[in-house]
Amino acid sequence: MCKTITEQKKLSENIIREIREVKLWKDPSLPSSLSCRLRNDGKKRPVILVIPGGGYGFVCINEEGYPIAAKFDEMGFQTFVLTYRVTRYPEPQLDALRAIRLIRSHAQEWGADPDHIAVCGFSAGGHLAGCCGTLFHDLDAKDGDEGDSFSQRPDAMILSYPVITFRKTQYIATGKRLLKEDFDEKRDEWSLENRILPDTPPAYIWATATDQLVPYENSVLFAQGMWEKGNKCELHVFPDGPHGMATGYERRDLKLWMEQAKEFLKVSATFPVEGGEKGRTVILTFDDAPKNHLTTVAPLLKEYGFGATFFPTFFTEEWRKENGQHLLAPEEIKEISDMGFEIGNHSFSHLNMQELSAEEADKEIGKLNDLLASVHIPRPVSFAYPGGPCAENLRPVLEKYGLKLARTGTRHPHICAETMWENFRTDLMKIPGTPIVEHLNGKLNFYETLGQCSKDNAAVFVFHGIPEKVHPHCNVTEKTFRYMLDYLKENNYTVLSMKDYAIQKNLI
Ligand SMILES: [Zn+2]
Repeated sequence: MCKTITEQKKLSENIIREIREVKLWKDPSLPSSLSCRLRNDGKKRPVILVIPGGGYGFVCINEEGYPIAAKFDEMGFQTFVLTYRVTRYPEPQLDALRAIRLIRSHAQEWGADPDHIAVCGFSAGGHLAGCCGTLFHDLDAKDGDEGDSFSQRPDAMILSYPVITFRKTQYIATGKRLLKEDFDEKRDEWSLENRILPDTPPAYIWATATDQLVPYENSVLFAQGMWEKGNKCELHVFPDGPHGMATGYERRDLKLWMEQAKEFLKVSATFPVEGGEKGRTVILTFDDAPKNHLTTVAPLLKEYGFGATFFPTFFTEEWRKENGQHLLAPEEIKEISDMGFEIGNHSFSHLNMQELSAEEADKEIGKLNDLLASVHIPRPVSFAYPGGPCAENLRPVLEKYGLKLARTGTRHPHICAETMWENFRTDLMKIPGTPIVEHLNGKLNFYETLGQCSKDNAAVFVFHGIPEKVHPHCNVTEKTFRYMLDYLKENNYTVLSMKDYAIQKNLI
C-alpha cells in the first residue's frame, strides 16, 4: 500500500521502538554486547541495565533478559540487556562496567537519563550487578574512546536472588566458574558483603526462602552489610519459590517485585520515573474456528470487556470429516458475531496461498465470504493469511473482496524482522501478528511483545484454540489464557479487534 506524504509526516508523532545490538568493545571478536530497546520520542528516561544469570556458565537471556527489559520498558524505563563474557574474572565485570559507561556516553542518542542508571541482575547476574556497585573504583573498563571519560558507577542496584557471596554458599560452582583456580584464595575478596563502600549505590534485593540453589542467607548477609555501613537497602524474602523465578511468572506475590523495585528506585534512589504510557492497545485474534472459541473464548472476552477478531476457516472436506466435531459450524460462528466480535476471512480450505493461482485464490476467499454471508455475518474487512506468512499474490483478490486489513502470523518479538502494528507506517496488507504457543515460550513472547507496545504501536496476538485440540502444536491452556487476560486488565491495556483499532486510528 502506498503511503501519502501526510501519513509519513505523522510518523514522528508516534513512538516507535527499535531494538539495536551494540558491541561493547572495539575488538569485534569479543561477544559482549548490549541489546538496546530504543524509542524515537526524544525523551530521556531512567535506565535499567538487565544482567541475566546463568551461573557464570552461560547468559540466560530468554528468561532473565528480554522479558525483564520488556516489563521495565512498559513501566517507563529505558532498558538495556547485557550479554557478557562467561570466561573468568574480571572479564564479565569489565563488560558490565563498560556497558554503564557506554550508556552514559550515548545517553542523548539512546534516550537514557545518565544520572539514573540501575543495574538489575539475577542469580550470578546478581553477583555481577553487585560487582558494579562495589568494585567500580577498582576495575578499569576503558577502551580508548569517548566512553572512557564517563563514570562506571551505577546509581542503584536491583538484585534478584543474587549469588552475591562465595563465603557461605553451599553452591560454589558459580564462584568456581568465575574465579577458576584462584577460587580458594579469592573467594572472600569476591564476596561482595566484604566490599561495600560508603558510595555503594542503594540496593533493592529479593529472594525466596526455599531457593534450592542460592540460599536466601546470601541476600541477608549483603543487606546487613549495607545497613551496617549506613547504605540504603530494601530486602524482600518471599516465603517460598524455587530458584530462577525471573518475572515472578504466575505467582501473584512474586510478580510484584518489579513494582516494589520501581517504588524503591523512586523513593530511595530518587529516580524520576514517570510511569508507563497510557492507552496502549492490544489486538487479540483467534484462528481456525475450534468449538471452544464459542464455548470458552468469546464468553471470557465478554467477561473482561475485551474486543477480538475471529478468523474461521472451513478446511478441506476431508479434514472436516475427521475433525468436524471440534470445529464451529457456520451458525455457531454467527453466534460469536452476534456477541459483538469481528469475524474475518481466513480462506475456505486453509491452503498455502503463496502457491495458488489468482483464480484459485479468488475461489478460496470468495467461498468463505459466501459461507459467512449465508448465515448473515457482516461482510469481513479483515483477513489472516493461512499458515502465517504474507502472500503477496493475494493483494488484488483481497482488494476485490473489500478486505482492507490482512494479518500475518509470523512475528517473533526478539527476532525483529517485523515491527508491531505501527499506525501510519505498517502496510495494512501485512499487519504483523505474534503467535502465542504455550510450549514455545508463549508467556515470554507475550510479555516481551507487550513491552514493545505503545500508544501508537499496537501488539497483535495470534491464538488458536483455548485449548487447541485439532492442532496441538498451537496450544494455549485456559489457565494461561486467563492469566494473560488478567495481565492485560491489571495493566490497563485497551483490547480491540483489528477492525475497531483501524477505525479508531482512521486507517480504514
Ligand atoms: Zn489458521
